Amino acid sequence: MLKKGTKMYSILTGNCPRCHEESMYENSNPYALSKIFKMNERCSHCGLKYKIEPSFFYGAMYVSYGVGIAFAVAAFVISFLFLGSSLPTAFIAIVGTLVVFMPVIIRLSRNIWINFFVKYDPNSVKKYEAIAKS
Ligand SMILES: [Zn+2]
Repeated sequence: MLKKGTKMYSILTGNCPRCHEESMYENSNPYALSKIFKMNERCSHCGLKYKIEPSFFYGAMYVSYGVGIAFAVAAFVISFLFLGSSLPTAFIAIVGTLVVFMPVIIRLSRNIWINFFVKYDPNSVKKYEAIAKS
């Protein structure tokens, strides 16, 4: 599943959606909170500009809603169904999960969002190098 060339690879690693060669982020660790929104301007391997248009990543907020619900459902299933906790405890587990995983949810949402618009292109690095040379 985590093979280079699949969207899943770019989404889970935060690598450039076009060439998959390097992280889009200044710090690929989402828990380095001061840098959570800091992205490189463009990919140094294929030249892709990550911010396709101004405020491009505002759209990721719609995605984060869905990703957040997925985490909440997972927390509920694990605590209420598997661990047999009470409803109030399951609710606390949901809130705790959302808080603890917020950086991951933010990053995942951005990765998913940009992968809607950019396709993997294994030749993009070569093309970019050719342009840079000419
Ligand atoms: Zn790239």
